[in-house]
Amino acid sequence: MDINFENASFKDFEDIPGMDFYGWADQFDQYVNNWDSRGHWNYRQESLNGCQPEVELAGHPGKSFVALVFNDYLGLTQHPKVKAAAIAAIEQYGAGAAASPAIGGHFSYHQQIEEKIARFFRRESAVLFTTGYTANSATIQSLLKAPDVAIVDMGIHASMYEGCGHTNIKMFPHNDMYYLERILKETQGQYRTRMVIVDGVYSQPADIVKLDEVVKLSKHYGAYTAMDDAHGVGVIGETGRGVIELYDLFPDVDIITGTFSKTFGHLGGYVIADPKVVNYLKFQARQHIFSVSATPASACILKSIDLIDEEPGLRDKLRDNIHYLKNGLDEMGFDTGNTQSAIIPVMTGKPDLNAEACRLLIEAGVYANQIGYPAVARKNARIRMSLMATHTREQMDRVLNAWEWVGGKLNLTKRVTN
Ligand code: PMP
Repeated sequence: MDINFENASFKDFEDIPGMDFYGWADQFDQYVNNWDSRGHWNYRQESLNGCQPEVELAGHPGKSFVALVFNDYLGLTQHPKVKAAAIAAIEQYGAGAAASPAIGGHFSYHQQIEEKIARFFRRESAVLFTTGYTANSATIQSLLKAPDVAIVDMGIHASMYEGCGHTNIKMFPHNDMYYLERILKETQGQYRTRMVIVDGVYSQPADIVKLDEVVKLSKHYGAYTAMDDAHGVGVIGETGRGVIELYDLFPDVDIITGTFSKTFGHLGGYVIADPKVVNYLKFQARQHIFSVSATPASACILKSIDLIDEEPGLRDKLRDNIHYLKNGLDEMGFDTGNTQSAIIPVMTGKPDLNAEACRLLIEAGVYANQIGYPAVARKNARIRMSLMATHTREQMDRVLNAWEWVGGKLNLTKRVTN
């Protein structure tokens, strides 16, 4: 089995025929060393000061990097009130929860977060999960079985795909309402339950679902809807309720899921649904009943939810940063795709060019992520940047200057590549 390491991706090392996992690991090790030898292995950089607009990285003494890798859109991981709330809760409840929610691990802050996040979305009920990933996978896995079908936008997050493992799945091209309608027509009468699954903000294209059309079509053809708005909440909508607010469809999506690991600056997932469905999940979702509940530090989520309303200036600052960086990149001729969120991609189109751009950015003091297959198609390789309200104008200028240098070195602007 010969793998061309230079063009390979993580995915090529999954289940290599004729070998067991020691063989796969050995091949993978050779692949990592090959990329690393060119300075192209930019993953798992060790941040010495956590999640900040500017970080210090192990192996780069005396240097700091503008960080564009965190989904901490409002900077709440470092907000003094959020940190104080986490510390106070540890003092009150201890360090861990030590049991799953159904059998002991359901504390006052869990109850309060469930009530508060449901109210945040103007709904009645919510259930917590320990991560956004498990909220998604558990919910779909618990609600859709063999006689059912998940009708999914191809761009949904991996956690939603994982939830579809025990049901049928039909995919429509990203945001393509013509295809969605075609599938809804074709599947009529063939399945017990049909659920259309979308993201609010799609994490790689960074664009927004056409939720009004998704809801209208699903209702028309008698299908249910589920939306994961992990990247939209706190960023999109007048008061930061996300894509559901943008379209004013609060009561109209059957299942809303999300995470506390991005805008809310902590960790954990939630599912908002009809009260009986929520109760069903509390006792049927394996990831909920067989796994420990969120640690006491998670009580800080209550403060983060308040801050979305109490400090709207953070959202304004984030939007300013998005506007400034995107305009600057567009003016220089970079292809920033169709972003409508706090995630700004710069398309490079080739894995090797992408990795070299990432390496050069590091050299120029900018820490961004290289994204390639399988997260996106190989031809859609890109550098992905997540912006925060707490980035300063001076940091944004450093990023633009770095891109000007990298773009010149690699001929990355549209003017040149088109
Ligand atoms: N949904 C989307 C769209 C995501 O981008 C992510 C995280 N990358 C998740 C869900 C999973 O959330 P968590 O990190 O809380 O597990």
